[in-house]
Parts: sequence; structure tokens; C-alpha cells
Amino acid sequence: MLTLPPFEYHAPMELADALALLQKHAGKVKLIAGGTDLVPNMKHRLFMPEHVVGLKQISELNGVRGEGGFLVIGAMTSIADLARNPRVALLFPSLARAATAIAGPQLREMGTLGGNLCLDTRCVYYNQTHFWRKALGYCLKKDGTVCHVVKGGQKCVAAASNDTAPVLLTLGASVELASPNGRRAIPLEEFYVADGVANTVIEPNEILTKVRVPIPRAGLVTGYQKLRIRAAIDYPSLCVAVAAQQQADGKLEWVRMVISALGSKPHTVKRLEGFQGRALDAATIAELGQAAHRQCHPLTNINVETGWRREMIPVFVRRAFAEAMK
Ligand SMILES: Cc1cc2nc3c(=O)[nH]c(=O)nc-3n(C[C@H](O)[C@H](O)[C@H](O)COP(=O)(O)OP(=O)(O)OC[C@H]3O[C@@H](n4cnc5c(N)ncnc54)[C@H](O)[C@@H]3O)c2cc1C
Ligand code: SF4
Repeated sequence: MLTLPPFEYHAPMELADALALLQKHAGKVKLIAGGTDLVPNMKHRLFMPEHVVGLKQISELNGVRGEGGFLVIGAMTSIADLARNPRVALLFPSLARAATAIAGPQLREMGTLGGNLCLDTRCVYYNQTHFWRKALGYCLKKDGTVCHVVKGGQKCVAAASNDTAPVLLTLGASVELASPNGRRAIPLEEFYVADGVANTVIEPNEILTKVRVPIPRAGLVTGYQKLRIRAAIDYPSLCVAVAAQQQADGKLEWVRMVISALGSKPHTVKRLEGFQGRALDAATIAELGQAAHRQCHPLTNINVETGWRREMIPVFVRRAFAEAMK
């Protein structure tokens, strides 16, 4: 049986107290939201914090509300609440769909949006017991010096495996980060970096407090498709999120696609400006699928065949647009 290492648990009622605890125990502390990622990782000795700060009691981190032209979603909103929220389902069906596709029902009740966006990257050589990793000689993400995925690689390429991130990227969302120095809002596009050791720009003294999603104009269509081995629980082997703003005549004003679960950063497909003014028909969608396919190269960081994952990209682009146009 895998056990947790010893730690002291703190349950602050106010955000300021949580931030003060992060500062006081700097270098020896981790935040916990639902714990569905952190607890298994602690059992695997991937993290051994002496202090754990729970965010559950901090009421300002909860809830979904309209604010100006945005839907604001608190970081502690559970994935299950996100999946069943009627405003989310109406305004952003792809976000509701991604939330519904995360893990299984119990994990969705416990897991939160903030925890999902800050999810540790995953790799077949990393998400293993300490015994297993030690036998392999560890790797550069934790305790070692080499990468087993990219031989000779100097940078970890563990996979961004969070389902909500690619969708929120297509929706132009931003996140608010609080620290003892104040609050800063940054576009989600700038939140993720291509480094599997730590793939976000969040500082150790910061807490993600909320997500702001611009309320769409008429004509926005969104879709999300996820490839996984067992539909009932698995992490993604491939995520495809799409969003397209159509004009009154049905022509494209813009189109966005984000492909994830391949490398350490969700990939926003580049150079899609040329699709402006086109109809979102089968030929356009096939070209969009090819554009995504050209730019994406899965790695052996997940125990699912890379060639198959790559060939599924245009298929899932087509399915995501089909879902969006329903
Ligand atoms: C069997 C299994 C299957 C899973 N399948 C999926 C899946 O298909 N898709 C998927 O996306 N996820 C999956 N997960 C992972 C996880 O359940 C979800 O990502 C969940 O949303 C994580 O949220 P949490 O609140 O439990 O995070 P926690 O475990 O509490 O935290 C995760 C990380 O984020 C940090 N953190 C949490 N909240 C904040 C905050 N507000 N500010 C700053 N840092 C914060 C923590 O310190 C920790 O490092 C799975 C987990 C398991 C065990
Ligand atoms: S990608 Fe390489 S360095 Fe990163 S976790 Fe996997 S084996 Fe380790």
C-alpha cells in the first residue's frame, strides 16, 4: 500500500492567510485544492512538502458569476459543478464537455478548476512509485539527470494533461494570480510554458484565484474531443479544442484550435488567419485538420502509440467541428 509522507496541514479561512503560509514555509509547502493530483503524487514521493495548505475554506475562491462582459469562475469551483453549470453549458459547451470528460465522477466532485489548470505534467517514466523510478535511475523531472523520452534531451517534455486548459485557450480566457505583492491577471496563452518540470509561470508564492472567460457574441461555435483508452476515467492521450467565430453570413471571422496532451505546453495551432472569410464546410475543416497535423508531433511520454495519436489529430479536428456545428 502506498502511504503519504508526513506533513502539517493548514486550513486558512482567508486568502491573505493562505498567502502568508506560502511565504512563511517557502520551499517546504504545497497548496491543495481537491487533492486528486497532489495526493497520488505525494504517495509516489514526487512531492514531499512539510506543509500543505488547503484552499477549501476560502469562500472567495468559489462560484461562477457574470462580471461585465465575462464569466468569472472561482479556482475552487469543482469540475463536477463546472460540468453541470447551466450558464457554462449554454455559453461554452466545449468547456462543459471537457469538464465532463475529466477522470471519473468521484474525482470530478473533488477536483477543481484551479487544480486542473495547475495540474502537474505527466510522463510514463515519472508517474510511478518511488521504487519503480529508483530502479530506472530517476529522470531529470525528479531526482535524476537524464530524460528517457528524448535521449540526450536537456528539457523535460512531460505532457500537459489537463482537459480544461486547451478549451479555455480557444475561448481567450485569462487567470488571476494573487501573491503577497498583489494580484496580476494574465492571458492563459501566457500562463503555460514549454517546460515539463514546471509548465506554468505561476510563482511559488502565488495562488490562482479565478478564471475570466469573455462572454461570446452570437456566432461562436465551440467543440472538444478527447482521445483516451478508457472513456470512463483515463487522462487524455490527445485533446483537440476548437472555437470559430462566424459572421451573420456564416463566413469565418476567426478560428482557433488548441491541441494538447502531446508535449509540455498545449499547442495553439499557428497561421490560421488565411481561413478568415471561408465557410466552415467539409473542405475547410479537412484543411484545418491538416494544418493541425503538420504542426503536432506526439512523443513517447505517454504509453500510447505516437503514430496513432498523430493520425487521430485530423479525425478529432473533424469530430470537434461536427460537435461545434450541431
Ligand atoms: C485516476 C485519475 C484520472 C484522472 N483523469 C484526469 C483527466 O482525464 N483529465 C484531467 O484533466 N485530469 C485528470 N485527473 C487529474 C485531476 O483529477 C484533475 O486534473 C483535477 O481537476 C485536479 O484538481 P484538484 O483540485 O484535485 O488538484 P490538486 O490535486 O489539489 O492540485 C493539483 C496541483 O495544482 C496546485 N493547485 C491547486 N489549486 C491551486 C490554486 N488555486 N492555485 C495554485 N496552485 C494550485 C496544487 O498545489 C497541485 O500542485 C485524474 C486524476 C486521477 C487520480
Ligand atoms: S519527459 Fe523525460 S524528464 Fe520529463 S518526466 Fe519524462 S522521462 Fe522524465
